[in-house]
Amino acid sequence: MSSPEICAGVLSIVATPIGNREDISARALGVLKAVSLIAAEDTRHSKKLLAHYGIGTPLLSVHEHNEREVAGRLVQRLLAGEDIALISDAGTPLISDPGFHLVRVARRAGIRVIPLPGPSALVAALSVSGLPTDRFAFEGFLPAKQAARRQRLQGLAATTATLVFYESSHRILDCLADMSACLGGAREASIARELTKTFETVLTGTLSGLHEQLRADSHQQKGEFVVMVQGAPPRDPAEVDAVSGQVLAILMSELPLKQAVSLAARITGASRNVLYQQGLKLKDKR
Ligand code: SAM
Repeated sequence: MSSPEICAGVLSIVATPIGNREDISARALGVLKAVSLIAAEDTRHSKKLLAHYGIGTPLLSVHEHNEREVAGRLVQRLLAGEDIALISDAGTPLISDPGFHLVRVARRAGIRVIPLPGPSALVAALSVSGLPTDRFAFEGFLPAKQAARRQRLQGLAATTATLVFYESSHRILDCLADMSACLGGAREASIARELTKTFETVLTGTLSGLHEQLRADSHQQKGEFVVMVQGAPPRDPAEVDAVSGQVLAILMSELPLKQAVSLAARITGASRNVLYQQGLKLKDKR
C-alpha cells in the first residue's frame, strides 16, 4: 500500500489578473485547466475569468468566513491524490486575501504547495512609483476606525523603508489625511489607482499635495488604490532617541553626569559616547 505522501496531490497557489485579463501566465491557465478543483474566493467573479479562457474546472468557494472549515476538507482531497488550485478575486492569493490557513494546514499535512507567480497590486504599484524599492514594508489595509488607524500610522512614523498600503475608494481621503497628520505632509508619496484598467493613474507628490489633489477631483477618488509613502530619514547615529534622552535626563537630575550616563547606557542600550555628548548638552542648558 502506498503512503498518503506518495500519492498526494499538489496545491497550486495561482495568481490571476488585477484588472487586465491578459495578465495571466500560460502556465497558470494550464494548471487551472488540469486540476480537479479550483478553490476561489468568489466563484461568481472567477467564473467570468475562467469562461473567458474556456476553463470549465469545478469551483469551490473559499472565503475568509469559511476558510478554516473548508481547509480540512480540501486537505483530505489533496491527501487522496487530487490536484487543487487556489485563486482569489484578483492578484496573488494570501496577499490581503484568503489562503493563509489553507496553505498552513496543507503544509502541516505534508502536501506539496507550489506558487504560480503573477500579478500583485503591491509589486506592480511599487515598480512604477519612483520611490525606493530596495526595502519596503507592506502594511496591507489600515484599520477602518480613525483612532486605530492613526495609532498604526504613528507606530510606522520612524520606519525607514518605503511604506505600502492597500486602500479602497470609501476611505482613500480619510486615509491620506491621517497619513499627512501622522507621517508628515511633506513626505514623498505615490498613489497607484486602477492599475492595468482603463482609468489607470499613478500620481506622485507630497502626502499633503496628493491629499489636496484627490480632494479637488472626485474622479481620482474612485477605484482601487495602492498608496506608497517614502520611509522616514534614517536617524543620525550621533542623535539620542527620545526614550534614551528622557532616561538620561531623569538620571541626571539625581546623579552626577558620568554615573547617569553609565546607568542610562545599561538601561537603554544606547551608546555611552552618544549619551555623554547629550549629557553635556543638557548640562549646558541647566
Ligand atoms: N491579492 C491582491 C494582490 O495581490 O494585489 C490584493 C487583494 S486586496 C483584497 C484588494 C486591494 O488590492 C484593493 O483594495 C487595492 O488596494 C489593491 N488593488 C487590487 N487591484 C488593484 C488595481 N488594479 N489597482 C490598484 N490597486 C489594486
